[in-house]
Amino acid sequence: MSLLAPLLEVQELDLEADRRKLERENLPERDALKVCGAEMVNNDQLQAKSKAELEKLARDERAVAGQVSTVAADAEGVEGRLYSGEVTAPKELEALQEELRLTRGKQTTLEEAELEIMEAIEAQESELAKLAEARTDTERRSQEIAETIKKEEARIDAELDVLTGKRKKPITELPAGFIETYSALREKPRLAGRASAALVEGLCQGCRVSLPRMDLSRILAEPEEAQVECPHCTRLLVR
Ligand SMILES: [Zn+2]
Repeated sequence: MSLLAPLLEVQELDLEADRRKLERENLPERDALKVCGAEMVNNDQLQAKSKAELEKLARDERAVAGQVSTVAADAEGVEGRLYSGEVTAPKELEALQEELRLTRGKQTTLEEAELEIMEAIEAQESELAKLAEARTDTERRSQEIAETIKKEEARIDAELDVLTGKRKKPITELPAGFIETYSALREKPRLAGRASAALVEGLCQGCRVSLPRMDLSRILAEPEEAQVECPHCTRLLVR
């Protein structure tokens, strides 16, 4: 077995850890949680609008109710005079009757308007209740999703711990300085986490390029514990 074989072992563990981290970052629940968040923001806006509408309707209702009592009092006043016996002239009585008819008519119109407002209030209240219920549902769903995320994170973190643990032994088997060079190379996005590669019959398994004969003989002449990079992709060669 090559002296540097443990480097490939470490790399496999690291690539596995990379996949786990990516999985952790892209848990589908994260998107679902965002959707819930947006739903709640939207719901809050709708509730605020609905509450403002309710307040406006309540104000309207109070105003119309006030008008109804004023007009009702007017009508009672006219009625009172009409039946008081004080007015006896037929023309005046007729005028009072007409006034009463008009006032009662006005009262009816206002009462109908008040009823309409009350119906609108009822509809708005039921709308608001539906929104509040939907908000509670989304909140609960959101909490459930957040819990699932926590569990998934803990599961992946435990797996990452195992992988970190498994790294220790092969690292101790490597010649000095290798893991440092390897780690620095892994930072290069171009290498996509594969900082080392086996050299098999003159072919770098990292970039799949056959090394020129001259490079190859130079590389093979190096002592095994020397750090040799692929001249093409710069990966640390395991030979
Ligand atoms: Zn290469």
